[in-house]
Amino acid sequence: MKSDAGGPRTVLVTGGSRGIGAAVALLCAERGDAVAVNYARDEAAADAVVERIRGLGLPALAVQADVSDEAQVLAMFARIDEHLPPLRALVNNAGVVDVAARLDGMTVQRLRRIFDINVLGSFVCAREAVKRLSTRHGGAGGAIVNMSSAAARLGSPNIYIDYAASKGAIDTFTLGLARELAAEGVRVNAVRPGIIDTEIHETSGHGDRLRAQVPELPMKRAGTADEVAQAVVWLLSDAAGYTTGALLDVAGGR
Ligand code: NAP
Repeated sequence: MKSDAGGPRTVLVTGGSRGIGAAVALLCAERGDAVAVNYARDEAAADAVVERIRGLGLPALAVQADVSDEAQVLAMFARIDEHLPPLRALVNNAGVVDVAARLDGMTVQRLRRIFDINVLGSFVCAREAVKRLSTRHGGAGGAIVNMSSAAARLGSPNIYIDYAASKGAIDTFTLGLARELAAEGVRVNAVRPGIIDTEIHETSGHGDRLRAQVPELPMKRAGTADEVAQAVVWLLSDAAGYTTGALLDVAGGR
């Protein structure tokens, strides 16, 4: 399914099977991109997103890989190289939180899981994308958007300072990689969502906390996955051609 010059190129969205990632995947397709929809466990959800993209007439592929597992990430990129048009962008969206805890209640196993998926996974996926996008490697350039969080500047005390710190690492990673690649045709930015209405809160037992916080939010509502996706797609687009190393808050004033 390799395209001729001028045809669609591929955006890889990690964690593209639901929530913010699914919204990004669909919006990229609406803008004319082929999309690789990565997921960890829920194949049916990823397939549903892929079907919607194919319904728009664009190539799409569901690609399973736990982003914290290097071998699985390498296999995912190899499948994308084989079955989809050349890569033009990576959205490092896959991320997890754990149940509410203070530091004195956090096991090393929990800390490793958070940092392995949120930080190491983003680094390894970006590394493989850079090998395909950077002009230094013979690529045609492109863009990377990392999914950070408002938690990176709030710290999330008593809930998940591990998650907040992992997103702080993503912010610093974004600043450094943006400058590393600035002369190589690859822009790197991050989006920092506030509280967004997705399943992440229920799956980690934070649903009630989210509902209780909503009246305290500046806009008196949570954001939507599509509102975050709009910012991501802009950062991926040529309209953001001079924007790199930016940390874009999509947090409703929080
Ligand atoms: P979500 O609804 O829980 O979706 C998470 C996605 O990531 C799913 O597609 C899931 O796939 C995938 N995933 C989980 N672990 C993975 C792994 N190890 N490897 C590959 N894929 C994995 O989450 P969301 O709310 O859309 O959040 C997406 C991103 O936005 C995350 O980085 C999160 O930290 C960030 N964010 C969210 C909010 C918010 O309020 N929702 C706020 C700030 C930042 P499976 O279902 O197959 O596991």
